Amino acid sequence: MTDSAVIVGAGVIGLATAHRLARDGLAVTVVDAARGDTGASVHNAGWIVPIMSAPVPAPGMLGQALRWMARKDSPLYVRPSLRPEHVRFMLSMLRHCNPRDFHHGIEALVSLNERTVSLFDEYEKEGVRFEYHRTGQLMVFHTREAMRRYQTEAESPERIGHTAEPLSGDELRDLEPALGRHVRAGLQCPQERHVDPASLVKGLADRCRERGVRFLHNRPVTGIRSGGQEVTSVLAGGEEISGDVFVLAAGVHTGTLSRLAGFPLPIQPGKGYGFDDTSGSVTLRHSVYLGEAKVAVAPLSDRLRFAGTMEFGSFDSTIDQHRLRGIVRSVHEFLPGFPPGSQPRGWTGLRPMTPDGLPVIGPLPGKDNILVASGHCMLGVTLAPMTAELVSAQIKGAHQASGIARTVHPFTPQRFASRRGHTTAAG
Ligand SMILES: Cc1cc2nc3c(=O)[nH]c(=O)nc-3n(C[C@H](O)[C@H](O)[C@H](O)COP(=O)(O)OP(=O)(O)OC[C@H]3O[C@@H](n4cnc5c(N)ncnc54)[C@H](O)[C@@H]3O)c2cc1C
Repeated sequence: MTDSAVIVGAGVIGLATAHRLARDGLAVTVVDAARGDTGASVHNAGWIVPIMSAPVPAPGMLGQALRWMARKDSPLYVRPSLRPEHVRFMLSMLRHCNPRDFHHGIEALVSLNERTVSLFDEYEKEGVRFEYHRTGQLMVFHTREAMRRYQTEAESPERIGHTAEPLSGDELRDLEPALGRHVRAGLQCPQERHVDPASLVKGLADRCRERGVRFLHNRPVTGIRSGGQEVTSVLAGGEEISGDVFVLAAGVHTGTLSRLAGFPLPIQPGKGYGFDDTSGSVTLRHSVYLGEAKVAVAPLSDRLRFAGTMEFGSFDSTIDQHRLRGIVRSVHEFLPGFPPGSQPRGWTGLRPMTPDGLPVIGPLPGKDNILVASGHCMLGVTLAPMTAELVSAQIKGAHQASGIARTVHPFTPQRFASRRGHTTAAG
């Protein structure tokens, strides 16, 4: 009988899961290392984009990163490091940069995203208060070739109702007059949404509190106690917290925690950069993907949010000004109203990355009552409600009957177990 759950991590994944399990009637405790909202869950673009259901490791991706190694402002960067976890992780990711794994990943992510938009709509109906935009997305490119390349690499998931309509530069400017004349082609994706990510985190936390969820902040989990096959408690800030079931949702630190439970998962950070602009120099209605620059733009109620860059090998939140300036420069190229010399205050976020680019959702091998919900890479906001659904179904034991088993299979932590019972590419 499962009456109580302990969730480690109060990012968007932990909160969505807490909210779902509280709805199921469980007594839920959320434990977090931080005092307030600091993780990737508030520092991101807030896009809800099933249209972008593609794993990060793509054919040619690491080759591109190596070519960009010398550029200090490139959108993709692998920091040279001999840290064994980093080297193992990058080698493992390299092995997944092939067409077969890439297409398998797309299929798995598309299936996972099938109910994403309706689950966000349900949040609203269920009383979660957050800033939610239904204005759709534009993906814009300086050349038709770049757009076509994007289209061939990332098929649009029409089978789940998400479409991408090709438009000319002028058609795009009719929709968004702020786009510059160098924008020549693009895609309109009307079903995509975006949120203010900080409002989503707050809205979920508030709704959790209303449903009786207990929060313990400023309590890093440093130990996991077991009796045989069962985890009995976690140690957090000197306190032992017991429960019937445990969920590890600690973002980039999930690998370290899973190691404490006997199964180290290869989750490593993919650092991103961003900034907010409140000057009003550019206004947009849609969220916009600046194709060649790989920059995300999200119009929020009181500002424009810009985010980009994928930097492997950095575990800290320091800001490399070259990368930030790289984003500013490319924003100006697409949105000429944005001043090229502006020096915004930047922020960073650490995406929890996996070597195959797929989240890790499900029971940790070797223990009966601890699950993982992490490794969502670039799609943690998008996938939060569906992840919570899967965790809930697995805890209830309902996933076999409901057909969820097939959806969740590609994300099982078990895929990182080697034949000898240890993990591969552990991080
Ligand atoms: C620049 C950027 C842009 C992005 N844009 C998008 C987007 O547009 N759409 C989208 O879907 N996704 C986006 N993402 C990805 C998304 O932000 C992440 O996938 C998501 O936030 C991960 O959430 P999380 O809850 O797993 O991790 P986190 O938000 O990192 O939360 C983990 C929590 O665990 C806590 N924790 C860690 N260790 C411990 C411990 N030992 N004990 C207790 N607590 C612990 C931390 O304090 C933290 O609060 C973006 C990311 C970045 C960086």
